[in-house]
Amino acid sequence: MGAVFKTDAVTGYRRMFYIVSPNETSFKFVEDVPKYIDEASVYFLTLIALEYLVAYLEGKKSIFRLADSITSITAGMFLVVSDFVVKGFDIAVYSWIYENYRLLNLPWDNAWTWLICLFGIDLGYYWCHRMAHEVNFIWAAHQVHHSSEDYNLSTALRQCCTEVFYIPLAPIIPPAIMLVHIEFNLIFQFWVHTQVVDKLGPLEYILNTPSHHRVHHGRNRYCIDKNYAGVFIIWDRMFGTFTPEKEPVVFGLVHPLQTWEPITVQLCHLKYMWHKIWEFETFSDKVAFIFKGPGWEPGKPRLGLIEDIPDIHHPQPKFDTFLPTWCKFYVGFHFLVSFLVLDAFVNIFEVGLTALAAALGIFYIIYTMTCIGHICDGTWYAPWMELIRCSLVLVATTSLKEDLMRVTDLDDAFIQGVRGVFFISMLLWLPHLLKTRENKEKLK
Ligand SMILES: [Zn+2]
Ligand SMILES: [Zn+2]
Repeated sequence: MGAVFKTDAVTGYRRMFYIVSPNETSFKFVEDVPKYIDEASVYFLTLIALEYLVAYLEGKKSIFRLADSITSITAGMFLVVSDFVVKGFDIAVYSWIYENYRLLNLPWDNAWTWLICLFGIDLGYYWCHRMAHEVNFIWAAHQVHHSSEDYNLSTALRQCCTEVFYIPLAPIIPPAIMLVHIEFNLIFQFWVHTQVVDKLGPLEYILNTPSHHRVHHGRNRYCIDKNYAGVFIIWDRMFGTFTPEKEPVVFGLVHPLQTWEPITVQLCHLKYMWHKIWEFETFSDKVAFIFKGPGWEPGKPRLGLIEDIPDIHHPQPKFDTFLPTWCKFYVGFHFLVSFLVLDAFVNIFEVGLTALAAALGIFYIIYTMTCIGHICDGTWYAPWMELIRCSLVLVATTSLKEDLMRVTDLDDAFIQGVRGVFFISMLLWLPHLLKTRENKEKLK
C-alpha cells in the first residue's frame, strides 16, 4: 500500500495536532519535505470513524450523512488531484522569489527559524483566509469548504488551499520550511471540525478550537465573517474578527446548495458570478463585484449589510435525498475503491507516469466522483453514467493490463477480481436503465 502507511501510529496521530519538533521537520530542500497531508490520510479516516462512534454513543449520529461525507471527502480528493498539476508551479515561483529577492537569510536548521515561521505562516493563513471571505472571486473557491450543512471531521476535507497565497512570505521564509508549516497548519485544522468536543477551558484563549471554528462555519448572523484562525485564535482577537460560540450554530452557506454533485459544488459560485456580472451597468461596478465581498451590491459597504443575511436560528431543515440501502452500500464501496486508486496513483505518480496514464488516472477519479454525486442526487441519467464508467474500467483493465501490472504490484488474479466486481456492478444498473426509460415514458 501507499503513502498512507509510511508512518507509525504514534507519529501519525501526533502530527494531527502539530505536536512535532523542529528537529524532525526541518529540511533544506523542498524535495526532501515528506508529503505530510498524504501520509495523514489514513489518520483522517480513523478519526472520522472514532468521531462517528462517539456521536453514535452520544445519540448524535444524525451529524453524519453518507452523501454529505462523501461530497466532503471528494473535495479533498480533488485537491490531491489538482496538486499534481498546480503544486509544483506554486513552489517553483515561491522558490524563485526566495532565491533571487530574499531579504533575510534564516538558517533552515535552526529551531528559532522553525518557530518564527510557525507563527509567520499562521498569520499568513489568517489573512489569506480572511481575504477568501472578503474578496468575491476568491470566495468562489473557498465556499466549497463552507458548503456542507453538516459539521463533522469529514467537513474538514472540503478544502481548497494553494501555496500561491503565501508568495508574499517568499522574501523571508525558506521554501522547505514554508511547505512544512503550511501542511501542518492544514492538518491541525482537521480536528477542529467536530461537534463532539465542547469548549476546552484555557486553550480557548490561545488556540483555534472546535468551538471557535463551529462559529466560523455558521450562517447565523452572529457567525458571519468571524474566527478566521488556522492554529492560533490570537489573530482574530488582535484584528477584531473574534466572536465566541453563543447560541447553537446553523452550518453551511447563507444560500445552501441543493446537490451532492462535486463539480457543481466546486463551480457553483463562479457560475453565479458569471450570470450576475452582466446585471451591473458600469465597468467599475463589474470590477467591484469581483473584488469586493460576496454580499456587496452598488450603494452598499464593501462587505455588504448584515441585515441581508437571513436571521435564522437552530434547527433548520437541510438539503437531503433518499438512497435505498443497496445503493448506500454500492456508493460506499465504489467510493472506497476510488480512494484506494487515488492513494496508489499518488505513489505511482512519484515514480513517473506517461502523460496519457496520468490523464487517464485523473479522469477516472473525477468521473467516478461525479457519478457517485449523481447517484446520491438521484439524477435520472446516473444509471447510464455508471454503466459507462463500469464499461470503461472493463475496457481499460483489458487493453492496459500489461502496463497496469508493470507500474503497480498488482498480479493477474487481482486484476481479474477487479474486472469481476465492475462487471457485477454494471449488471446491477441494467434494471434501473429500463426503469428510467419507463418512468420517462410515464412522464410523457
Ligand atoms: Zn472560511
Ligand atoms: Zn473549516
